[in-house]
Amino acid sequence: MIIKECKMPLKIEVLEALIRRLPPGYAKQSAIQEDIKKIRAGYNGEYRVFNLLKALPEKDYLLFHDLRLSSSPYPFQMDILILTPSFLLILEVKNMAGEIYFDNTFNQLIRTNPDGKTEAFDDPILQVSRQRRHLLDWLKTKRMNNLPVETLVISANSSTIIRASNKEINTKIIRKDRILLKIAELNNKYKEELLSRRAMKRISSLLLDGHTPFIPKPLETYRIPSTALQTGVFCFKCHAYSMERQRKWICRTCLDTSHDAHISALLDYLYLVKPSITNSEFRNFLQIRSPSSTKKLLASLKLKHSGHNRGRVYLLHSLIEG
Ligand SMILES: [Zn+2]
Repeated sequence: MIIKECKMPLKIEVLEALIRRLPPGYAKQSAIQEDIKKIRAGYNGEYRVFNLLKALPEKDYLLFHDLRLSSSPYPFQMDILILTPSFLLILEVKNMAGEIYFDNTFNQLIRTNPDGKTEAFDDPILQVSRQRRHLLDWLKTKRMNNLPVETLVISANSSTIIRASNKEINTKIIRKDRILLKIAELNNKYKEELLSRRAMKRISSLLLDGHTPFIPKPLETYRIPSTALQTGVFCFKCHAYSMERQRKWICRTCLDTSHDAHISALLDYLYLVKPSITNSEFRNFLQIRSPSSTKKLLASLKLKHSGHNRGRVYLLHSLIEG
């Protein structure tokens, strides 16, 4: 049963907003594009693996995508977690094209691109065993000491060539098509049911309650000053900050119109600048001339707010909380 669905990471949307807000030709743009590509590939791999897991009997397998649990000193994140009556299984998914080589000696993963370029990454086996340790600690704080936690690294790309310095690695990393077989093996290893349905439900809600979503801070990450961001309301047709507020939004260049173009501008503000906005910040960021349309637009959004008059602060989180 899917407890936490496989959804596109917020970070992709945030970085795409950042790209749009940066002036054309801004130096860090290609690095950000490259990161978007990597995150997207990672997500595609997780999505493919998650889909295969949907074939598992619903009541015995609870599936969680992208769970991030708080633990000291830092939260830890797991690509996919499976909770069964007899064990837990953490999956670390890799979706890399070309050839990957597991180097045991230096604990690194070396990827050779189809174009021959090599790149080193942290060893995913080490990564997932660290997650295991954190999860065991976390379970201990919930007074669950006796649950076995298994780990696997999954290669989600069927065309990837996998090589390793050590043969035994093939028990720790598998291709995605072997995942159901591997889970059947684990079922044989852990025959005893340690958790009742009720206990599984309880752990499942503890896991969901413990989830702390990752809030990207892209300006900090890429060291971009907020003054570098273009202001105004974006026209998605001609790709410029050329929308003007009349009765509705109308593009000065292509004359395209929109009723709600201010919402995507506010989302940009939430993603890139901060989670709250004042009336004058709203006016400046969206480049609205008339104070009365600013007021009307803000009121129409029915955002939660605090403070009064000029000091009023509108909270933007409700824009993404559905
Ligand atoms: Zn336009």
